Order: sequence, then C-alpha cells, then structure tokens
Amino acid sequence: MKMNFYDLTVDKLKEFLSEQNENPSKALILFDGIYRKGFKDFGQFGFSERVVNKLSAFKLDMPEVKRKLDGGDAAKLLLKLSDGNFCETVLMRQKFGNCVCVSTQVGCNMGCKFCRSGMLRKQRNLSAGEIVGQLMAISKEFSCRIDGVSVMGIGEPFDNFSAVADFCSIITEDKGLAVSRRKVTVSTCGIVPKIKEFAEIKAPVSLAISLHAPNDKLRSMLMPINKVYPIKDVLDAAEYYSQKTNKRVTLEYILLAGINDSEAHAKELSELIRGRDFYINLIPYNETDTEFKKPSYDVVDNFCRVLKENGVVATKRKEFGAELKAACGQLASVYEDN
Ligand code: SAH
Repeated sequence: MKMNFYDLTVDKLKEFLSEQNENPSKALILFDGIYRKGFKDFGQFGFSERVVNKLSAFKLDMPEVKRKLDGGDAAKLLLKLSDGNFCETVLMRQKFGNCVCVSTQVGCNMGCKFCRSGMLRKQRNLSAGEIVGQLMAISKEFSCRIDGVSVMGIGEPFDNFSAVADFCSIITEDKGLAVSRRKVTVSTCGIVPKIKEFAEIKAPVSLAISLHAPNDKLRSMLMPINKVYPIKDVLDAAEYYSQKTNKRVTLEYILLAGINDSEAHAKELSELIRGRDFYINLIPYNETDTEFKKPSYDVVDNFCRVLKENGVVATKRKEFGAELKAACGQLASVYEDN
C-alpha cells in the first residue's frame, strides 16, 4: 500500500530518503514543490527516473469535497475521507488573514455536554495527512493562502497526539505551507499528561485550554474529563506549557446562560487564576442541539468587565459561521441535510 505524502514530516521524509540511499536534503525540495509550487506529481521535480521510481511509494491523497458552503466571512467544507467517513473543516476570513479550523477525529469521545461534535462517538483518529488534507482542500477550493490554523474542529487533539504533533510540524515547515507557529493554536479539553508532552515537541505552537467553569463541581458536570483531570492539575500543566515554550496559554470559557455566566462565576474565575499568567477568551455559546442557551450581550459584556476589574486579561471571541453551522461546537462528522 502506498503511503500518503501528506502524512510525512520533513524528518520522516529525510529518514525515508536516507534509507533509500538518496540525499535527505531532497526532503526540502519535495516540500517546496508540493506545498508551495503546487506540483501534482513527483514527475514535475526534474528528478532522475531512479528517484521518481522511489517516490512512487507515495500518493498525494486528498479528501473528496462533498459539500461546499460559503457565507462570506466563514466557509465550510464537508469532506469524504478515503474510508467513507466524513469530516468538516471551516475557513474563517479574519482581519489578520485566513484561518482554518481543522478536525482531528471522526466523532469525539470526550462527551462535553454542550458540544454538538461529540454526539457521534469517536469512530477513529484522523491521520496527520488527513488533517493536512483539510488545509489543502480549503486552499484549493477557496483559492486562498492560509495564515492561521485552529485545531478546534471535531475531536480531541490530545486523544490523537502523534498525528496532531506531526500535523503541527508539517504545516509550520518553512519550505512548506510555512504557517507561523504563533498562528497555530491547539485546543484541548485538558488531558494533563499530553499537555506536558506537547510542551516537549520540537516546534511548539500556541495552546488553548477549554476551561468553561470556575470550579470542579460545575466543570465535571459540563465536561466529564474533569473527573480524571481536575482544574488544578490542568492549570498546573498549562503553566508548565507556558514556562517551557514561553507562550502564554489561552483559557477558553464558553458562556452558557444561567449556568456559568453570573458575576459570582466571574469573580470565582478571577480568584482561580490569580497570580497565573493566563489569558481568558470568552466564547458566547453557539446554540446547537443541546439544552444550553447563549446569554445576552449585556451578560457577556458584564462578565468580561468583572474579569478585567479583577486583573484578568480577557477578550471576547468574534463569532464566525453560526449561520453555516460552522461555529465552535456545531461541526458534525455526519453527512447532514443542512
Ligand atoms: N476538543 C478540543 C477542541 C474542539 S472544540 C477542546 O475541547 O478544546 C473547540 C472549542 O469550542 C472548545 O473550547 C469547545 O469547548 C468549544 N465549544 C464546543 N461547543 C461549543 C458551542 N456550542 N459553542 C461555543 N463553543 C463551543
């Protein structure tokens, strides 16, 4: 069976070339040709027949676009993977440039109560190449450059650690897509050992943690993973990440009407992170097929104000794509009629 070229980091490609008694520096030429020049096959590089034959071990496997929706500032693709499973990926046209939100699994096992994406249990992990393929599909379908990547689509990235680590390495490679590491953000529900392991990888990117509650009781109710890794351990791991990588970690906090959005919650949250160098990103809930509702703008503003008054750096996330069911937590792994 042929290997998918998009699965390979530069290091893995170099290893392959060395094993084949070829000069490993060809790896960078290959990255440049495929990711930057848009070559469609290995015959276009001007390599000798011997080299082209060796490279025939690889295929350039792209997901098939089943549906394309474009709503102006946001667009969404439903992609069919080679085994017939589906995944979704979103393009957000932001002020700083084009940001793609990628999925990492088919379905998700984390069971967060407010999230649509978890309604289908995990069917399988995506390979690094299938995650890279989402970027390739977006840039081809919408003829755009990719300036930023959020690993915030369907799935828990740290439940698919090695593929996500390889993906981060592949897309930030200078000779390839060259997405700036500062503009790649991996979001996790808080799998503590993996947060620490992620701090050790060669090319660290930005990290965001889905916190969503200021105490363990509420967080365990909303996010079952909290029973395994409670808030203190998650915050300690996040702090370790920021010390190791010199990057400030973002804590994401969805505001759910009547659940976690009171002034008292804002104060409790400020207390919780006092003295720690985090940044809070408030996300007004995107309503989906759950019982949760989004609070009014006033409640969101007020929550943000209380945090700031208590010395917390907080911003409100701009909403993207709700009308396309493309916003956070609204993505699905199934072919839906919407
Ligand atoms: N599994 C990862 C990444 C996927 S979700 C994680 O948990 O972080 C990306 C972000 O969207 C997470 O913060 C998630 O909690 C949030 N989210 C899920 N459902 C949402 C919804 N309906 N509205 C707004 N944000 C949501």
